[in-house]
Amino acid sequence: MPTIVPYTYEKKEEKIVYFTSLLKDMKVLVATEKPFAAEAVNGIKEICEAAGYQVVLLEKYTDKAQLLEAVADADALIIRSDKVTAEVIEAARNLKIVVRAGAGYDNVDLAAASARGVVVMNTPGQNSNAVAELALAMMIYMSRNRFTAGTGSEIQGKTLGIHAYGNVGKLVGRKGKAMGMNVIAYDPFITDDFVFENDGVRKVGSVEELYAQSDFLSLHIPATPATKGSIGYELLSSMPKGATLVNTARKEVIDEQGLEKALDERTDLKYITDIAPDAVEHLAEKFGKRFFATPKKMGAETAEANINAGLAAARQIVDFFVNGTTKFQVNK
Ligand code: NAD
Repeated sequence: MPTIVPYTYEKKEEKIVYFTSLLKDMKVLVATEKPFAAEAVNGIKEICEAAGYQVVLLEKYTDKAQLLEAVADADALIIRSDKVTAEVIEAARNLKIVVRAGAGYDNVDLAAASARGVVVMNTPGQNSNAVAELALAMMIYMSRNRFTAGTGSEIQGKTLGIHAYGNVGKLVGRKGKAMGMNVIAYDPFITDDFVFENDGVRKVGSVEELYAQSDFLSLHIPATPATKGSIGYELLSSMPKGATLVNTARKEVIDEQGLEKALDERTDLKYITDIAPDAVEHLAEKFGKRFFATPKKMGAETAEANINAGLAAARQIVDFFVNGTTKFQVNK
């Protein structure tokens, strides 16, 4: 008779108890419109299968109906930028946990998940280095006229402003320091000054101060109701002469009309983004070398980040069922 290890997940007055030994036939669905690297998929399978779970892959799906069908009997779900809407949660009658292999989780309907007692997690920090490297590369690309003819400029000696000093922001700051940049940062949720001092980064007191001083501004705020559309004309037009805004965060945090107006008025300003704005073609045509959007979001698209985030997602699922660990839960 196997030992029955009860795991209890408290959801307000309701108490859900999973008996891990009874969950051996669990199905872990990996639903990725943009698939993981093969090594990541193999690692996910190894970790889940060692725990006795079955892994089912739904890759490169083109229709929401395929996802709705695949989640119907899934106990756990691993996703990337895939949308987990209320409809998906509703269709997934056995679902207990969703892990977004990545940092931002604005693609998951948290309220719908919470209402059904489904735990949602992300895998913070696992793809940060990939995003940070891209942010630095974007600064150099814009400084060198997008690798076309003409005299460029160097990033050494310039002031790099970090908007949000989380996992990615910190790494961009450290890499910026290594390139000889003067790094400043703003993050109202980090109250311990040692976090900045430890990296030799100067903390500024307001978002206005940050933009007004930054030759390069690297954006790392999450897309939340408070941040959506919050970066617009006022902040952009306050930036120093020749400044560049680098966005590896989310398109939703930009007020696109404000951005266009600032680029219109200030012919020295530049914008580079990993998340194409709605009016990408219009902006590319209008602003030429001063504007660039990656053809597809590629910040976390490295083999290393894929493997780190995919394996972390699988480990978190096993740890959740076996030990009840909810350390990275985002819908508490
Ligand atoms: P993180 O959670 O480690 O850090 C986010 C930081 O934002 C935290 O320090 C928090 O205090 C701060 N913050 C929250 N609201 C803020 C506000 N209103 N003003 C200033 N600071 C605020 O996340 P991360 O791993 O650093 O990722 C940052 C964002 O980058 C994610 O939310 C995601 O949207 C985006 N991202 C993009 C890619 C990509 O492929 N381009 C990959 C990973 C992450």
